[in-house]
Amino acid sequence: MRRLRRSKIVATLGPASSSREMIGKLFAAGADVFRINMSHTSHDKMRELVAAIRSVEEDTGRPIGILVDLQGPKLRLGPFADGSAMLEKGTTFTLDADNTPGDIHRAYLPHPEIFLAVEPGHSLLLDDGKVRLTAIEVDRTKIVTRVEVGGKLSDRKGVSVPDSTIPFSALAEKDRSDLEAALDAGIDWVALSFIQRPEDIAEAKKITRGRAAVMAKIEKPQAVTRLSEILDIADSLMVARGDLGVEMPLEKVPGVQKQMTRLSRRAGKPVVVATQMLESMINSPVPTRAEVSDVATAIFEGADAVMLSAESAAGQYPVEAVATMNRIAEEVENDPLYRTIIQGQRGEPEATGADAIADAARQIAETLELSAIICWTSSGATGMRVARERPKPPIVAISPNLATGRKLSLIWGVHCIVAEDAHDQDDMVARASRLAFRDGFAKAGQRVIVVAGVPLGTPGATNMLRIAFVGADSGEDT
Ligand code: PGA
Ligand code: MN
Repeated sequence: MRRLRRSKIVATLGPASSSREMIGKLFAAGADVFRINMSHTSHDKMRELVAAIRSVEEDTGRPIGILVDLQGPKLRLGPFADGSAMLEKGTTFTLDADNTPGDIHRAYLPHPEIFLAVEPGHSLLLDDGKVRLTAIEVDRTKIVTRVEVGGKLSDRKGVSVPDSTIPFSALAEKDRSDLEAALDAGIDWVALSFIQRPEDIAEAKKITRGRAAVMAKIEKPQAVTRLSEILDIADSLMVARGDLGVEMPLEKVPGVQKQMTRLSRRAGKPVVVATQMLESMINSPVPTRAEVSDVATAIFEGADAVMLSAESAAGQYPVEAVATMNRIAEEVENDPLYRTIIQGQRGEPEATGADAIADAARQIAETLELSAIICWTSSGATGMRVARERPKPPIVAISPNLATGRKLSLIWGVHCIVAEDAHDQDDMVARASRLAFRDGFAKAGQRVIVVAGVPLGTPGATNMLRIAFVGADSGEDT
């Protein structure tokens, strides 16, 4: 089984998609990675979903990635006496440390850190930015604000403070326990929400210790200003356009998306474009023209993956949403302009053996019009450096580690096969050809290029390139 596109699809699971059967259908429609959102999922439910995904994986024989998304330090208001309160523009409204229910004059804010971080003049955005306040006076127990944009506030609505850097960890108590449970369940990627600093990623990495790769969700302006330092430590970035569009002016989000995609591609780390990609498909079997264009833009930019949130988690048409993304990606990647646009943003190889080989493999494969670039990769690093080249032919990565196969399911262009290590160079080339043939990447008589580190099993030693014919006997015994 092979996909006919290079970019990948991440589908969030939820009430509309938690059965084994539905997960199987989403995979068949094109989902490469499944996201479990811990804001809405119990530990038991998470383990059930992981088991269902692993069972689909076993049936299909294809490694499938699991991304667990931690809620992070999302700030929320306390309750209101009447369940809600209508704030009028121009009035004064106070957020304080008094835990009695709120009214039109004040509300409880159960996060004492905010009183120390907010300064007069800073904005406070409530309920996804629908209500806007400006801080006038701040002390250790309250923030007195002016209502700039009024509206109805109700119990436990979200609070964003885009101008203030809050001195707390990106991992709340709930996140730590969710992370431990997810690592125990053997997941592949963990996404960190509302990170502000590189230290936030370092803190999570101390816990994951390589057991899962770490994705930084960029959804706060503080993180946007420190993107490259964050990317140095993180294994991947997510353009979390939902909260980003609340915390900064919406019209700045497309520029940030471009900046993040370019930066990640240059670093050779995967980037996921997320949120509202096919939003109208929550209730409709067909998307809007603008949504199709949005998905297409991310594909043209060379993003590793596009993501579905409520469309697959809670919508009426989860399978159709995945199938729609699949069709858009296939069509864009076949567009006559696609290759030139992708090539325009290709980074120069870094001065390492792995990059020199990856660059050479791409050039040879494109010049000779080879059917595939096949790399033997145990950690996945070689596969990722080849993917960084965004080559025209597909990349087949062969790894003895199932965990590597699962991790690589997020990476642009990589089809990963889990297979035993080869015993010598000839075996490596012969088996690479047979596996590429088996999975439909090369026909008998066509040529492929094989990339590896010899001797096998020495990580970081990519040093071999071979062009090989796929034999007529490739159908036999892989
Ligand atoms: P969320 O993150 O779906 O967990 O909020 C993505 C985003 O904010 O875009
Ligand atoms: Mn978010």
